[in-house]
Amino acid sequence: MDTPLSLAIQKSGRLSERSLAFIEACGISFSRNKTRLKSTAHNFPLEILFLRDDDIPKYVADGVADIGIVGENVFAEKGEALTIVERMGFSKCRLSLAVPQNVSYHGVGDLAGKKIATSYPNLLSQYLSRQGVQAEIHEISGSVEIAPSIGLADAVCDIVSSGSTLLSNGLREVETIFRSEAILVSTPDLPAAKQEILDRLLFRIRAALRAESYKYVVMNVPNAAIENVVSLIPGMKSPTVTPLAETGWSSLHSVLQEDDFWEVIEKLRAAGAQGILVIPVEKMIL
Ligand code: ATP
Ligand code: ZN
Repeated sequence: MDTPLSLAIQKSGRLSERSLAFIEACGISFSRNKTRLKSTAHNFPLEILFLRDDDIPKYVADGVADIGIVGENVFAEKGEALTIVERMGFSKCRLSLAVPQNVSYHGVGDLAGKKIATSYPNLLSQYLSRQGVQAEIHEISGSVEIAPSIGLADAVCDIVSSGSTLLSNGLREVETIFRSEAILVSTPDLPAAKQEILDRLLFRIRAALRAESYKYVVMNVPNAAIENVVSLIPGMKSPTVTPLAETGWSSLHSVLQEDDFWEVIEKLRAAGAQGILVIPVEKMIL
């Protein structure tokens, strides 16, 4: 068998579950022993390494792992020379500046000379220098959001998704400095045999990613309304139309993108479509 491609994913944390779900969606199975750092897939030349997310960029840069799934925030902070192979669409979050709610804030200039706590000193200092603001960066590795209330800092620069953690710590988000999602990264110089495995894996990942954003829809349409209904369905090739046993009616099959899903469904109903069935798509291969 080929030398397997090695993939680093987060051992336990916000990226772990979705990273594992992706491997499964690619039809790759492996047995997992929670105490082990490494697992080999049974049916694909892939080895999986379970690591702390912060270590993933360095391990991939050093060639210990060939590819990795990591937050773009961590990737950008670490500054390793890796190639972004795919954006994975999950773990969307942003890196933001926040100040105590009772402090007035008019713009990033207000942070000049202030102390800002963060786990992202590089991204923060790049942002501040782009803005021409000089502030003191205080690096801490966790629980950044409590820094102002214990007098450790005047502001924080931290990961936000809904903003509820900031709110419950009496903080107000004032600037977004970086937007992130999970990404698949690779060493820039993979040997040809491993690149071939990566290409096979990517083919599967892309089919799974595409499937996630589509739904398969089946509906009954009076024949007189077919032309109008078809004109409302965006994308793909032309939908499949088959006659129903009841004269004057047809069944219409198509795929719809998740983004404009409800809007299109409402229009289809208004145009006469009935009995609309919506079915998840498992894989989509173009
Ligand atoms: P580790 O123990 O591996 O160092 P960690 O505590 O540093 O884990 P997690 O909190 O599990 O990291 O977050 C991992 C990644 O998930 C972050 O780097 C970020 O990309 C993303 N992330 C963090 N917080 C959120 C959130 N609230 N919503 C969505 N994604 C998030
Ligand atoms: Zn971490």
